[in-house]
Amino acid sequence: MKFLSVDRELSRHSYYAATAPRTQGYASLAGEVECDVAVVGGGLAGLTAALELAETGHTVVLLEAREVGWGASGRNGGQAIHGLACDQEEIEMQLGLDDAKRVWAMTNEALDLLRARSQRYGIDSEWRSGYLGLATTARKGAALSAWADRMARVYGQEFTRIAPAEVRSWIDSPRFHSGIHDPRSGHLHPLKYALGIANAAAAVGVRIFENSAVTGLVHGSTVRLSTASGNVSAKQVLLAGNVYLQGVASALEARIMPVGTYIVATEPLDSQLADSLVPSRSAVCDTNFVLDYFRTSNDHRMLYGGRVSYSTATPPNLAASMHQRMVQTFPQLAHTKIEYAWGGFVDISMNRAPDFGRLQPNVYYLQGFSGHGLALTGLAGKLVAEAINGDASRFDVFARLQHSPFPGGQMFRTPALVLGMLWYRLRDLLG
Ligand SMILES: Cc1cc2nc3c(=O)[nH]c(=O)nc-3n(C[C@H](O)[C@H](O)[C@H](O)COP(=O)(O)OP(=O)(O)OC[C@H]3O[C@@H](n4cnc5c(N)ncnc54)[C@H](O)[C@@H]3O)c2cc1C
Repeated sequence: MKFLSVDRELSRHSYYAATAPRTQGYASLAGEVECDVAVVGGGLAGLTAALELAETGHTVVLLEAREVGWGASGRNGGQAIHGLACDQEEIEMQLGLDDAKRVWAMTNEALDLLRARSQRYGIDSEWRSGYLGLATTARKGAALSAWADRMARVYGQEFTRIAPAEVRSWIDSPRFHSGIHDPRSGHLHPLKYALGIANAAAAVGVRIFENSAVTGLVHGSTVRLSTASGNVSAKQVLLAGNVYLQGVASALEARIMPVGTYIVATEPLDSQLADSLVPSRSAVCDTNFVLDYFRTSNDHRMLYGGRVSYSTATPPNLAASMHQRMVQTFPQLAHTKIEYAWGGFVDISMNRAPDFGRLQPNVYYLQGFSGHGLALTGLAGKLVAEAINGDASRFDVFARLQHSPFPGGQMFRTPALVLGMLWYRLRDLLG
């Protein structure tokens, strides 16, 4: 797969990898191992499921193809935000309003869980509360305001409204019209958090194996997973390999597309300048379909994300083009240097709703976070553990969501998606 080699290159220059040293490595699998539950994938979905399952008395093995936190979980924008990547209307249409409300409440629970785990396991995740959703035009401001009205009326979720006259006190940028603020959402250092969860999982007995890519899966009452140098026999399995889970479960692969997204980190700013850009130090996203997302780090850098690649090719001159994008938002950073530029792939589903379910009664999967999984993965791991422990009611709310494969098959789905996305990009540009 072409995107895998692109991705390896993209992972190399991340600010997170440079600032979260890996103090603990894990051996690779050798020989035959038996367990109650085997988890494939050491991102936050797999790690949190493994942690919850071990804490409730299961023997758990986690197999990671590279290193824990190597994928999206250790490279993302660090923004933990309410809701899902898709509109709530998609969930209402599929599940009805009552279950859509349960889903929304669970996205809030996911935020609380993330903070609670940081505290419980003593993870220095650099958490900061606050999220700003900002509209770039009057039309988009009206749409955001109408959305916030509906969320208050139907879901009882209140956001602070930011009127056009107030927006410059929230962000020192000429780009924005109006917005909302959510104090429950926030941001953190994702790799520090993922490595902390891995340590916590290992401490409660999860046997983690790195550099142990699963290449084969045989279903049965005991499921058999094979790697180059060993095999695991498990009563239950969770597949949490994101877009990297290639050649293990083709039915899952057809329902998600790898879409590239990119981030740069500046040199450290003067702390007063960093404070002036976004005085609340909240995480920020605009409401465009192809969105910009940014935040300041604990060491006062601007971490600016955006752009997408539907073709999986890295945009040319990544650092320079992201710098240009950042300066459109913050002209005062025109002479600020970029020190890190990296990216990764998100697992977009056709309707952008999360895709959770079972391939067999004892083989669970979690995917389709569609670029909005930092908090939700942690809840998803908990839901799988609940299901394996005998209460699948919350997992099954998500598992009822229907998903279609991307049209065009492996060969033609990318051109079809590129065309579709160009249309949305045009809509963003037209305001
Ligand atoms: C650049 C970027 C920015 C993002 N920004 C945000 C953001 O700000 N907020 C937000 O909410 N979300 C964001 N996301 C999305 C979020 O990071 C993901 O939704 C989430 O981390 C997915 O977690 P995961 O555990 O499913 O997958 P991953 O973290 O990718 O973990 C999957 C793991 O499985 C392993 N694996 C795959 N196949 C196998 C196999 N066969 N055998 C063994 N191991 C295997 C991989 O090596 C990988 O480590 C972003 C993503 C990217 C890439």
